[in-house]
Amino acid sequence: MKKITLIVPCYNEEEVLPVFYDRSTEVLKGMPCDYTLLFINDGSKDRTLEILKTLAASDEHVKYLSFSRNFGKESAMYAGFTNADGDYVAVMDVDLQDPPELLPEMFKILETEEYDSVATRRENRAGEPPIRSFFAHRFYHLINRISDADIMDGARDFRLMKRSMVDAIVAMSEYNRFSKGIFGWIGFKTKWLAYENVERAAGETKWSFWKLFKYALTGIMTFSQIPLNIASWAGIGLSGVSFLAIIFIIIRRLAWGDPVQGWASLVCIITFIGGIQLLCLGIIGQYIALIYLESKKRPHYIISETNIEDTRRIR
Ligand code: UDP
Ligand code: MG
Repeated sequence: MKKITLIVPCYNEEEVLPVFYDRSTEVLKGMPCDYTLLFINDGSKDRTLEILKTLAASDEHVKYLSFSRNFGKESAMYAGFTNADGDYVAVMDVDLQDPPELLPEMFKILETEEYDSVATRRENRAGEPPIRSFFAHRFYHLINRISDADIMDGARDFRLMKRSMVDAIVAMSEYNRFSKGIFGWIGFKTKWLAYENVERAAGETKWSFWKLFKYALTGIMTFSQIPLNIASWAGIGLSGVSFLAIIFIIIRRLAWGDPVQGWASLVCIITFIGGIQLLCLGIIGQYIALIYLESKKRPHYIISETNIEDTRRIR
C-alpha cells in the first residue's frame, strides 16, 4: 500500500491545530493508502508543541519535529521534505486554507495519470486586502518575465508529489529558499487544480506585508540575475548620455564662449548619478549578502525535540 506523508508547518497555531487534525484525519482515513502527519513546530511560543505531543501520544500517524527557534516556513518545509518517508508527499498549511478534501482527487490523479505532481492554485484572492493582491500579481508577472522559474499566479505550496520530485527538492540544499521557484525549476510533469480561495479557519496570518515583500525579493534574487544587469545597462546608458553632453558643451563653447552658468543643473546631474551608483552598489550588495549566507553553510534548521527516530536533526 502506498504511503502519503503530509508536511504541516506550524507557527503559533494552537487555535487551529486540533481542527486541522480532525479534518485531515477524517479525509485520510477514507483514502486507500497509509499516511503520516508530519508536523513541524517552527519555534511556536504558544501551546502548539504541547498539543502535538498529546496528539502523538494517542495517534501513531502523528509525527512531529520541533525547532529550537522560529526558522521560517521555508526551513520548516525543507525539514519536512528531508524527513518525509512516504511514496507521496504534500505540504499543507495548518490553517485549512489548503482544503484536505482535495487530497483524494490528487492521489487518484497520481495513481492513474502520467503526472509527477498535482499542484493547487487559488482561482481568486477573495478576502485578501486589495493592496496585497495587487503586489502579489505584480510579483508573479515580474518573476516570470525575468527568471526561468515558471511560477503560476496564485500557486499554493500545497501539492502532492512523487518520491522522485521530493528527492530533487532535498538535493536543492540552498540556504535562501524560495519553494515556489524550486518546484518550478526542477521541472517534472505537474497537473494544476484550481479552487476557490478559503479564508483562514482560525488564528491570524503569520506574514506581515514587510515579511512578504522581503520574501518576494529573495524569490527574485535567487532565481534571476536581471537586477545585476540593470547596473551594467544603467552604466552604458549614462555613459552614452554623458558623451552626447560633452559634444553639446564643446559646440556651445566654440559657438557662444563660456559664461559660467548652470549650477543648478550640475547639482541635479551629480545627485542623479550618485543615486544611480548607490542603487547599483546596493543591488550588488544584496547578491553578495546572499553569497555570504550561502558560503557560511549554516544549518537550515535545528531540531530540539521529535518523536521520529533516526532524524536528520541538523541540516
Ligand atoms: N508558518 C511557519 N513559520 C513561519 C510562518 C508561518 O511554519 O514563520 C506556517 C503557518 O503556521 C501556516 C503556514 O506556514 O501553517 C502558512 O502561514 P499563514 O497561514 O500565516 O500564511 P498566509 O496563508 O497568510 O500566507
Ligand atoms: Mg494561511
